[in-house]
Amino acid sequence: MSSSLAQDILYDAIVVGAGPSGCSTALFLARAGHFVLLVDKAKFPREKVCGDAVSGKSIGVLRTLGLLAHLEAQPHGVITGLKMISPNGKEVLVPFPNATGLTCAGYCLRRQQTDAVLFAAAKAESNITLIENFSVSGLERDASGAVIGISGSQANRESVSPPLNNERTYKGRVVIGADGAGSVVARSLGLAGVPPEHAFMAVRGYWRGVGGLGDHIELFFIDQVLPGYFWIFPMGDGTANVGLGILNSDIKKRGEHPNKILLNAIAKHPALIARFTSAKQEGPIGAWVIPNGSHTRPNFGDGWVLVGDAASLVDPFSGEGVGNALSSGQFAAQTINEALGKNPGNGPLPAASLAPYSELVESKLRPEIMTSYNLQRASRSRFLLNVFIGKAATKPAFRQMIIDMLASDEAKQQVKDPLFYLKLLLP
Ligand SMILES: Cc1cc2nc3c(=O)[nH]c(=O)nc-3n(C[C@H](O)[C@H](O)[C@H](O)COP(=O)(O)OP(=O)(O)OC[C@H]3O[C@@H](n4cnc5c(N)ncnc54)[C@H](O)[C@@H]3O)c2cc1C
Repeated sequence: MSSSLAQDILYDAIVVGAGPSGCSTALFLARAGHFVLLVDKAKFPREKVCGDAVSGKSIGVLRTLGLLAHLEAQPHGVITGLKMISPNGKEVLVPFPNATGLTCAGYCLRRQQTDAVLFAAAKAESNITLIENFSVSGLERDASGAVIGISGSQANRESVSPPLNNERTYKGRVVIGADGAGSVVARSLGLAGVPPEHAFMAVRGYWRGVGGLGDHIELFFIDQVLPGYFWIFPMGDGTANVGLGILNSDIKKRGEHPNKILLNAIAKHPALIARFTSAKQEGPIGAWVIPNGSHTRPNFGDGWVLVGDAASLVDPFSGEGVGNALSSGQFAAQTINEALGKNPGNGPLPAASLAPYSELVESKLRPEIMTSYNLQRASRSRFLLNVFIGKAATKPAFRQMIIDMLASDEAKQQVKDPLFYLKLLLP
């Protein structure tokens, strides 16, 4: 469908952003029989700065969407566990629980490929009208202030001079902001940005030939990077995704570019020097912001919903955001489907009918996010990291407790309990 025709239509839903959260929302809505406009400023397949880890949560939603086999057909690394390295050089490898139906916990594959699988599925859906190269710049509102559409411009990023007079508006009964960390939808709604103490600045690059790669992800809590973390993720093709995450507030205090911190860690940390001796960097180092779910921002209102990074839903310990992006898209679609059923007509969906989305986020995603926030705060202490990882490396019973914590949300709650820290400090 051409974009000029698309302009004359009232869509059931308009989704801004075709990343994991946007494609998930659009696919679930389209499959429930709704007519969806999905726009993205990029042309797909597009590059995305990411750690590339696809966890059990992501796998669950991809399976529900019937896309797991498509993902598995892409080149990928298999993940079975997590190695943690302490500031004083102790290390421990703990197995992750297997994802449901798999013999491993998850995969590592280039985000370009993960997103291409989702995008291809959206493109194949007859109920979804897809417009690439469309950059949203604002929201359309009715007299009461309810959101009734989007405005933006069509620009071919590959052309040297984009055509003039290419402003477009599109109308829908609900607009879903799935446009990531710098969400234009959230800004147009007047929402404050994510505070620096609740967002990571994260960078990543690819290296070929890193020594000692296994089928586990590695998190280094090392002096060159603390109070942030450094990671190595095996991509299964001889390359590794190497990166770090540091809270924006800490980066500001430190006044150093995160790329420099990354390269300095590789050059100065004894274990990393050895592993990178024969490694070659491939491509540039990319940087992006990770909005953590320890910050709660409004995520629905009259005629609008925010999902994924636009709703600030990333795990504040691991930096994992794809799982919550896909899940929030599913919750938003479920709520919008019910709201459209209860509110026939042409008007914007009222906030009250979209409130169940926020309740699903709070009950299904926020508890785990807040446990991870406690872990993030504990991992700022060099002393606690040395005790925790040192003890896990030498005491099987303590290591088992961590395995249980990785497997169960209930066991994870222990980090909130002062007795946990007493047990940690006892020999
Ligand atoms: C360095 C780094 C490492 C990470 N590692 C991991 C990891 O290993 N595992 C994990 O699960 N998560 C990881 N994350 C987090 C993860 O990348 C995000 O949580 C995830 O991408 C969120 O998905 P989303 O769909 O909400 O947003 P995005 O993936 O950011 O998609 C947003 C889309 O909106 C489009 N868009 C933006 N603005 C506009 C506009 N104005 N108009 C139209 N379209 C627009 C963009 O082009 C984009 O396609 C990492 C993040 C970073 C920065």
